[in-house]
Amino acid sequence: MQQDKIAALISSHPLVQNLINLEEVTWFNPGIAPTAEGLQDVGLGKKDIDDAAARLKRFAPYIEKAFPETESSHGIIESKVRPIPNMQAALAKRYGMELAGKLWLKQDSHLPISGSIKARGGIYEVLKHAEDLAIEAGLLKYEDDYSKLFSPEFRDFFSKYSIAVGSTGNLGLSIGIMSAKLGFKVSVHMSADAREWKKQKLRANGVNVVEYQTDYSVAVANGREQAKHDPTCFFIDDENSRTLFLGYSVAGGRLKAQFDDLGVTVDKDHPLFVYLPCGVGGGPGGVAFGLKEAYGDNVHCIFAEPTHAPCMILGVYTGLHEKIAVQDIGIDNLTAADGLAVGRPSGFVGHAMQRLIDGYYTLQDKEMYQLLSLLDSTEGIRLEPSALAGMPGIARVLSHPDYLQRMGFTSAQLANATHLAWATGGGMVPPAEMEAYLAKGRA
Ligand SMILES: *Cc1c(COP(=O)(O)O)cnc(C)c1O
Repeated sequence: MQQDKIAALISSHPLVQNLINLEEVTWFNPGIAPTAEGLQDVGLGKKDIDDAAARLKRFAPYIEKAFPETESSHGIIESKVRPIPNMQAALAKRYGMELAGKLWLKQDSHLPISGSIKARGGIYEVLKHAEDLAIEAGLLKYEDDYSKLFSPEFRDFFSKYSIAVGSTGNLGLSIGIMSAKLGFKVSVHMSADAREWKKQKLRANGVNVVEYQTDYSVAVANGREQAKHDPTCFFIDDENSRTLFLGYSVAGGRLKAQFDDLGVTVDKDHPLFVYLPCGVGGGPGGVAFGLKEAYGDNVHCIFAEPTHAPCMILGVYTGLHEKIAVQDIGIDNLTAADGLAVGRPSGFVGHAMQRLIDGYYTLQDKEMYQLLSLLDSTEGIRLEPSALAGMPGIARVLSHPDYLQRMGFTSAQLANATHLAWATGGGMVPPAEMEAYLAKGRA
């Protein structure tokens, strides 16, 4: 972008200057709408979420057989949610403020099979593709016991097809592991920032890893281009896929069922705030869509991004969405937060969710590392850096009286509130790597 264009953008949207300065910013969107109205932008509805949930149920007998670690949940890939009171106290001290309400952690970091939030969307899209192929070939009916897919016959059938995806790491892990297990030929196009251990793990699972010296957008473009020339190849499009989005959205109803079981009330007098780390937007966008369908106006979703990769806040705040990338305003898109190093936001998610997301904030990599070691020392929970992005959310919300007033929250409501940090990854980080993260956070 030319200097005069950037200057014009800053004068119409002053926060862009703070983003360029790599400052930690918080922005609450004045354009949010009542849920029923905002949901009309999405183009998908409850019926679509129910359809995705039903598909995951059909596949559960297969998942249970193919991944024995899911036996306890009978093939349903779901994570625990738990309160983190010691961390909450530590955060109050760290930020020098009182933190009303109760802080919880959603542990997608420890989802089975691939240890990140991508085990929702990525795996779902592979399953949907496998089901479509098998049904069309007359090998499968919706009423069947899908455990029959765990057989040499089906592996042989799927081996005639291939799947490709571009990834910074975690999406590749989910799609690679799931596709290879079913029998597909699978290629993961990985950006330069992807971790070596993730590449090794994929190769050990029989996945073809293609490496790039560039960032995520180039890896995606190349993957898409290669797939175009092969009619048996299915390209999973992280930027625009409705299927991926729906896979994530199932989390909303599932969280509600978990909170109901745990006796956690969410209603007008007990609002729920959810803090979601955001990369291209599909994961947090899909989860937020599911939460809005489940809880309506009583849930408030806030997206968190690294100061070096604030693509979604930039796109939504300026209204330019996928038409602007952080590089256009001189931001380098270099961050240690796996999954969040994305320069250009999903246009689909930006438009679909723009009236449903209460706010956005950015945080420094250094903050993620320090929170990583703080969570380890206070709660004994270990996450990867990106998964800590949601942790400061409670303090950001409670230190913005302008937002709280505009929304009309009373102090009684805030005292009753539930704050949920969505931990998006870290369950599969090798011990040596985790030790290095912890050391960095303590230093
Ligand atoms: C992918 C990812 C996210 C964000 O998901 P997007 O769909 O890219 O927005 C957050 N945290 C982790 C650990 C991820 O891997």
